[in-house]
Amino acid sequence: MVIIFLGPPGSGKGTQAAIISKALSISSLSTSAILNEVIKNGGERAKELQDYMSSGRLVPSSLVNELVATTIVQDEYSAGCILDGYPRNIDQAEFLDIRFPKLELKVVYFDISYEALASRIEGRFACASCGAIYNKFSSNTKVEGVCDVCGSKEFKIREDDKLEVLHKRWEVYIEETKPLLEYYKDKGVLLSIDATLQKEEITSDLRNAMKL
Ligand code: AMP
Repeated sequence: MVIIFLGPPGSGKGTQAAIISKALSISSLSTSAILNEVIKNGGERAKELQDYMSSGRLVPSSLVNELVATTIVQDEYSAGCILDGYPRNIDQAEFLDIRFPKLELKVVYFDISYEALASRIEGRFACASCGAIYNKFSSNTKVEGVCDVCGSKEFKIREDDKLEVLHKRWEVYIEETKPLLEYYKDKGVLLSIDATLQKEEITSDLRNAMKL
C-alpha cells in the first residue's frame, strides 16, 4: 500500500512519516529530501531548484514526477511506502494514477489552520547534519542541543521555515495542493486527522485511522 501524507507545510507530515514508516517497517519517500539530494550533488539544475525551494514555490511537476517514478520502483519501496510531500497538485496525482494504475492508495489529510501553523513554525529547527526536524515548543531534542537521530550538535533554521516563506507556501498550498482533497475524496480513499494535536496524539490518531 502507498500512503500519501497530504497537508500544508509544517503540518507534521515529515515527523509522522518517520514514526509511522518505522512502525510499519516501510520506507518513507520525501520529495523535498530527494530534491535536496539533487541540489547537494550540484549540476546545472541545482541553483534553479534551490531558488524554487527557498522561495516556497513548487518545483516543476515534470521533474518531480520523474524523480518519484524512478525512486518508487526501487526494491526498498516495493512493500509499500509513505509519500511525504507528493503529489502536490492535480498534475502530479494524475501522473501517479496513470504511471502506476495498480497502486493501492490511502491518503491522510493533516488538517490545520494557517494561524496554528504560523505559531508552530516559529519554534522549528532542523539538524544541520541529517535534517531531522524539531520544535523548541513541542518536540525538542531529548538531550538539549544534541540531535536524537545522528548526535550532531549543529542545527539550522530551514530557509523555507521563515514566516514570509510560510505565507507564500500557504498560498501555493491553497491554490495547488488543497484541490487534491476533493480528488481523493471522490476516489473514496481520503482520511483526515487533526494536525493541531501533540505529536504522540497525532501518531495514535493516525494508527487508529489507518487501523494499524
Ligand atoms: P516540503 O519539505 O515537503 O514542505 O517541501 C519543501 C519544498 O520542496 C517545497 O516548497 C517545494 O519547493 C519543493 N517540493 C517538495 N515536494 C514537491 C512536489 N511534490 N512538487 C513540487 N515541489 C516540491
